[in-house]
Amino acid sequence: MSSTTSPKRVAIIGGGILGVSTAVHLLRQGASVILLTERGLASEATGRSLSWLNSAGERSAPYHQLRVAGVDRYRTLFAQDTAREWLQFDGGLMWNAAGQHSVTEARHTYEKSIGYDSKLLAPEDIAAVTPGIDAGAVPENAIFNPGEGWVSLPDLVEFLMEEFHARGGRLVLNAGKASVTVNGARATGVETAAGENYEADAVLVACGAATPAVVAPLGVEIPNGSPVSMLVLTKPVDHDVKTVMNTPRAAVRPNPGNTFALDHDWYEEHITEHADGTFSIPDEVVQELADEASKLIAGSPDLKPASWKIGYKPIPGDGEPVFGELSQVPGCFVAFTHSGATLGLIAGELLSGEIMTGNKHPMLATFRPGRFS
Ligand SMILES: Cc1cc2nc3c(=O)[nH]c(=O)nc-3n(C[C@H](O)[C@H](O)[C@H](O)COP(=O)(O)OP(=O)(O)OC[C@H]3O[C@@H](n4cnc5c(N)ncnc54)[C@H](O)[C@@H]3O)c2cc1C
Repeated sequence: MSSTTSPKRVAIIGGGILGVSTAVHLLRQGASVILLTERGLASEATGRSLSWLNSAGERSAPYHQLRVAGVDRYRTLFAQDTAREWLQFDGGLMWNAAGQHSVTEARHTYEKSIGYDSKLLAPEDIAAVTPGIDAGAVPENAIFNPGEGWVSLPDLVEFLMEEFHARGGRLVLNAGKASVTVNGARATGVETAAGENYEADAVLVACGAATPAVVAPLGVEIPNGSPVSMLVLTKPVDHDVKTVMNTPRAAVRPNPGNTFALDHDWYEEHITEHADGTFSIPDEVVQELADEASKLIAGSPDLKPASWKIGYKPIPGDGEPVFGELSQVPGCFVAFTHSGATLGLIAGELLSGEIMTGNKHPMLATFRPGRFS
């Protein structure tokens, strides 16, 4: 006698990197997947991320281990095609403001103590490890982390979506503010803003900074610490920079097409949120960030902002990731985290395993949503 079992049906709300990555990992394991998102893919944080791939500095040991595994998965992807313009591993360079050299030294000592590749450099040593930097911008010392990299998330999403479609995933764009449907306490599927219903055996809420609002009607509280932030993309410019830079007045990474992606936090006070939920910032503040970035680059090229996007950067209230099934709503999973670029591939891998098998992955043990109950 033979029997066939129908594939597990999973509905995912959220077309950012966490939703897309988990969708593809589920499809690889034979699930039937529908991915619904409010507007387009990568329309929120994933579309405006610095996406420095790292576990630099100090954090909880489980979070560090997860991030290191996250970088590992990107390295595997990188090794398959090292010429991709949107994923590169040329290290990360950071320094603090003048007078803070001992803070930089302490960070380096900590990184060494946990086996994180970390080199403490005098300004004149930087050119030997990474090109294109103006050493004169470095006040006293800097840390170079050779194992770090960067990704352009919109390109990664496009790459993963090719596999999503090839494996038969269903995509619903412009779903509006979708919600999780329940019967009794159990998740039964997703309803779009227009009232279309999609039944599923499991639901994943991967709505970035909106995740707490999407699970709130289910009686689940997840504290939200998401700040407003901005990513600037510059016009193309000739340069030799390969590394990601985190410095007192600008964070800079190379971006496809000889452009740069720029980020920081000092300009947050200049951002205005409007009644319709949009944000604005004076053009001169955007140019000031570009000017700060220019000072870090050999030859101080004239950096011109080409576009900038402002919105919430997803950060759970306690700063740690939130991954896994809601104990109050069986069948409903959440993925809500800071550093979702670094975690994008590993989170999709581990969550899809939990959704498919019901077996909880030990690396996610301290990140459960139940810690807020
Ligand atoms: C400026 C900036 C710099 C960053 N730098 C780094 C970095 O250097 N390194 C790093 O690792 N990470 C970084 N991050 C964080 C990283 O980019 C994010 O954690 C990641 O992109 C979040 O992906 P996500 O899929 O969780 O959410 P998002 O990309 O925000 O996607 C959520 C999606 O859900 C949709 N949605 C929301 N509510 C609903 C609903 N009710 N119904 C339907 N759809 C809904 C949204 O429209 C959106 O498409 C940065 C982020 C920003 C903004």
